[in-house]
Amino acid sequence: MKNFLTNQSAADLEKWCAVSGYPKFRAKQIRQWITGKFVSDPDRMLNLPNALREALKAEFFAPSMKIAEVDSAPDQVAKLLLQLHDNEHIEMAVIPAGDGRITFCLSTQVGCPVGCRFCASGKHGLKRNLTAGEILEEFLLGCQYIGRKCDNIVFMGIGEGLLNCNELFPALEELTSESGFNLSPRRITVSTSGYVPGMKKLAELEKEFVLAVSLHAPDEETRAKIIPDPLRFPIDDILQAADNYRERSGRLVTLEYTLLAGINDSDTHAEKLGRLAYKHHAKVNLIPYNATDTEFRRPSRERIESFERKTAASGATVTRRVERGSSKNAACGQLRINAGKK
Ligand code: SAH
Ligand code: SF4
Repeated sequence: MKNFLTNQSAADLEKWCAVSGYPKFRAKQIRQWITGKFVSDPDRMLNLPNALREALKAEFFAPSMKIAEVDSAPDQVAKLLLQLHDNEHIEMAVIPAGDGRITFCLSTQVGCPVGCRFCASGKHGLKRNLTAGEILEEFLLGCQYIGRKCDNIVFMGIGEGLLNCNELFPALEELTSESGFNLSPRRITVSTSGYVPGMKKLAELEKEFVLAVSLHAPDEETRAKIIPDPLRFPIDDILQAADNYRERSGRLVTLEYTLLAGINDSDTHAEKLGRLAYKHHAKVNLIPYNATDTEFRRPSRERIESFERKTAASGATVTRRVERGSSKNAACGQLRINAGKK
């Protein structure tokens, strides 16, 4: 398969230029288009000769994807539907914070093999992993869309990124390296359903990425109702891996908790969750469920507030996800609802 232009290093491109009969400085120009102007389409690299543009397009996926559709409203979450080179679709979200900051919510896989029962992304299983180049190109398209580099990235779009470490990690490296996009790791959140081997590998990087763990339940019995068997790890192992991450990265871990009425939203669940979070020095982020076509319901506002109070009572820090975009199917877990129809 062809390589992706977006994750060719300066050294890779210099080598390619040498082999293809182009001077070394062309490699630098190509990198400047990518890292400085977020351009991956050789046709837009205006200072390159035509023959080189054509050669790049023939050699690499460049560009490898395009924005097929934008669903946006002023000051709201924008949902970008991206068409990949093999006609698959993924989605990313552009989330304005209100203070001028912009967060990208990026996908790491086409579909998801974990299949959490309330999440639209896993409905049809995993189609394939995204490559590092594709993850970077997603970011580039977002930057082109807003006309600048984003402030934060959360890997909370489609897919379980830690099941795709081989591609996600090089993308993280490029996003944070000085010769790449130079974003602070502290501004990048990797969210996982609790895939323990991947959590260990992320810890080994010893970088300050934010790790968010989608716990959703403080006991095995409740969790089994939400996450199917094969890829669900024991809560003890997940929390141990979270401790390890905190120790190696120096960052507090966040426990994500999607609230589902009558499933995981009782005061007893909240007390247990609060105790676990306190014991493991983790923050809790409550996410009221956004309706997909599943059998679940969002708890009432009173229930959510009571749950929040009870969780916080044990001393744990609790936040609630600010809700934006659910009206447009752009909230977490809803991004792929319509993708299958394309
Ligand atoms: N696979 C990773 C990252 C993508 S999902 C993970 O599971 O963490 C990102 C977050 O969105 C997870 O915390 C997930 O539980 C949440 N989510 C998915 N579907 C949702 C829905 N319908 N309503 C609310 N949160 C949802
Ligand atoms: Fe996959 Fe995360 Fe959705 Fe679960 S919540 S199906 S792990 S994307």
